[in-house]
Amino acid sequence: MTSTRTRDEDSIYDVIVIGSGFSGLGLAIALKREQRHRFVVLERGADVGGTWRDNTYPGAACDIPSHLYSYSFRQKADWKSVYAKQPEIFAYLQSAANDEGVRPHIHFGTKVKRAAWDETRSLWRVETEQGPYLAKALVSAAGHLSDPAFPEIEGLDSYRGRIMHSAQWDHSLDLARKRVGVVGTGASAIQIVPELAKVVDSLTVFQRSAPYVVPRRDPAYSAAEQRMFARLPQAAQQLRDELFWFNEGRFLQRRRVPSFISIVSTMAQTHLDAQVQDPELKRKVTPDYEIGCKRILISNDYYPALQRPNVSLETSGIERGIENGVVTRDGVSYEFDAIILATGFEATDLPIAEVIHGCQGTTLAESWRSGPEAFACASMTGFPNFFMMLGPNTGLGAGSMVFMAETQTNYIREALNHLLERQIVIEPNAEAQRDYVGSIDSRSQGTVWVAGGCKSWYLHPTSGKLTALWPDFMRQFRAENGSFSSRGYDERATESQI
Ligand code: NAP
Repeated sequence: MTSTRTRDEDSIYDVIVIGSGFSGLGLAIALKREQRHRFVVLERGADVGGTWRDNTYPGAACDIPSHLYSYSFRQKADWKSVYAKQPEIFAYLQSAANDEGVRPHIHFGTKVKRAAWDETRSLWRVETEQGPYLAKALVSAAGHLSDPAFPEIEGLDSYRGRIMHSAQWDHSLDLARKRVGVVGTGASAIQIVPELAKVVDSLTVFQRSAPYVVPRRDPAYSAAEQRMFARLPQAAQQLRDELFWFNEGRFLQRRRVPSFISIVSTMAQTHLDAQVQDPELKRKVTPDYEIGCKRILISNDYYPALQRPNVSLETSGIERGIENGVVTRDGVSYEFDAIILATGFEATDLPIAEVIHGCQGTTLAESWRSGPEAFACASMTGFPNFFMMLGPNTGLGAGSMVFMAETQTNYIREALNHLLERQIVIEPNAEAQRDYVGSIDSRSQGTVWVAGGCKSWYLHPTSGKLTALWPDFMRQFRAENGSFSSRGYDERATESQI
């Protein structure tokens, strides 16, 4: 364990990690297994799991196969089906925290209010609702799907019924036989709509732009298959590898390679033709941008749900909220007992960036005015001994975010060893960061996310740059960012930490 020879030794951690979702928990497990550094995880919630703890809406499930969307070092043989539902994923993360013995390192109910680099002491000072923490290095694993985005709809605050974001589901609210409006048709909404449609009196879905939808092939694993995966871990690994390479191939669609695009667009069109016959509905649910520009959704029951007699799809847009519902742009009033906002997350301008202060007190948000950027997708010039997991350009249009998080876990673990063992301060130099971001920008050009004619949270609203997604193969991310090198970093000795 790295020693800290200062007067207030006990109160200085080597590392503070913010967040215990898939990425922060994975890093905590790596640090725990390594047994070298004194670390603490600050978690604002009451349990581990991040987005998989918070998103408990009806129908919540993953759209990446669980044999791939899980830790490579904690493979689970008995996933119930190809795409696990939220309770199974949440339980998986809880048992990872328990079995790995990291819970004592996690301070729950500890929301970070401010984190500031103290140059005179070469320390991060993190203010929380439970008091201050000090550390030599800080890692944000706060995630980009953690803070709900609320739509700016005039007058919505005058609505007197219940209003609820999809990520803040209140299960005590009984929606059976109620009149409900759902705003949004993204990955969350298309899981919620079929479930609500079964129980509510009426459901109105407000669509701003239509998603592409392909079939969800989600067979249950039989007991025999689960036993085989338990007895033959190499079979589970082989499946994982196949799923990885299948998803890796999907990047070629996003690079707009014609033969790959035609496979997925035919799949979406065939699904639509098979499930929707009414020409008016078909017109409404046909997207007006290139496939892949936004997340391609998987569902077998979304289009059928829209055709239930108690469900309608509204596309003229919400003009304003009123006391008992909303009014659409074409002047129609809708009365609701409850409105569900399936409107996504603050994923472009990350709220955590507002509270991280680097050299001279500059916040990460201020340094990201033209869009989030990082060196090696992990560190930022002006922010010494600081790393971010699943920050700029780490998202995927197709593939497993757990793969990306594990890649960064290794990079950050090695970087922490480097700086803590040498008792130094490191930060990427501006030139290295500029070059790195330049290479990302040039790889982004021509991808469907930039050129596909849609407006998505993958692009920064002012600069128009691709800031949320990684514009290359997953294996390239690992080749570039899976192992720490001090090249591109400035290093200096630490100041007195007394
Ligand atoms: P999202 O993909 O950002 O979708 C938000 C939806 O709300 C979109 O349809 C959007 O319309 C609409 N919207 C936003 N503001 C609006 C406004 N002011 N008026 C009308 N409509 C508005 O959010 P999400 O569905 O919660 O998904 C977010 C991400 O979470 C996904 O991309 C995915 O990465 C992840 N997710 C994954 C799963 C999974 O199965 N693994 C499930 C759920 C979520 P526009 O399209 O026109 O912007």
